[in-house]
Amino acid sequence: MRDQLVFLLQLQQSDVKVRELETAATQLPAKLDPLRRDLAKLQTMLDAERAKLAETDAWRKTQQELIDRERELLKAAQAKLQASKNSKEFGAASREVENKRKSITDREAELKKVSEVSATSTVQLQSRDKDVEGVRTELTSSEDAQSEQLGAIRAALAEAITTRDAARAQVDKQWLKIYDTLAAKRGYAVAPVVKGVCQGCHMALPPQLNNILARMESIETCPRCGRLVYRKELLEPAAPAAAAAPAAEESKA
Ligand SMILES: [Zn+2]
Repeated sequence: MRDQLVFLLQLQQSDVKVRELETAATQLPAKLDPLRRDLAKLQTMLDAERAKLAETDAWRKTQQELIDRERELLKAAQAKLQASKNSKEFGAASREVENKRKSITDREAELKKVSEVSATSTVQLQSRDKDVEGVRTELTSSEDAQSEQLGAIRAALAEAITTRDAARAQVDKQWLKIYDTLAAKRGYAVAPVVKGVCQGCHMALPPQLNNILARMESIETCPRCGRLVYRKELLEPAAPAAAAAPAAEESKA
């Protein structure tokens, strides 16, 4: 019976490990979601700024074309002024030249203002581009580290599953059935008893049952929680002894 209890405990420990590793493998990929969200947000902002800048550039191009056309008109007005034959023609041509000049000056002043703002925006955009690139690099290296981590977790999981299956194979069918039912109902099936108290439900066992457990001739269940119980000190020796055993084996190997 002692062996069966040992196998049941091994089964329970490896079941816990398998569950932990499965959870870790499921939760790991989501850990980079905040960084991915940050990057997407930054990228959206950057795209909007870039679109605005492109719009401004298009506007500047149109303004420049208008200025060029007005310069042509100014030349024509100046030619008319030179060709004027009387004071009436001269007066009209002068006004036209003056109007064109003013229009060109105004347009150029506005274009200059917008161009200055545009230049500042371009510099800012370049700096933000660099920031986004930094976040992207961070994400890529984090993803690399994560996939490595995930690989390690999956390898450990495969190993834990092998260990669990080996433990299951050692447990008698009748106990396996009880174990599975209890594990499904209570979370775990095997509980230690410390100083006469079931550690599964914290009830003090009847002294007689505690004495039966001391003999280790049978597998007993806790009257309250139904878990398979054992005296902790009989299956799990005190910590220093447990720690010394593997070290001794290592030095032999
Ligand atoms: Zn109990």
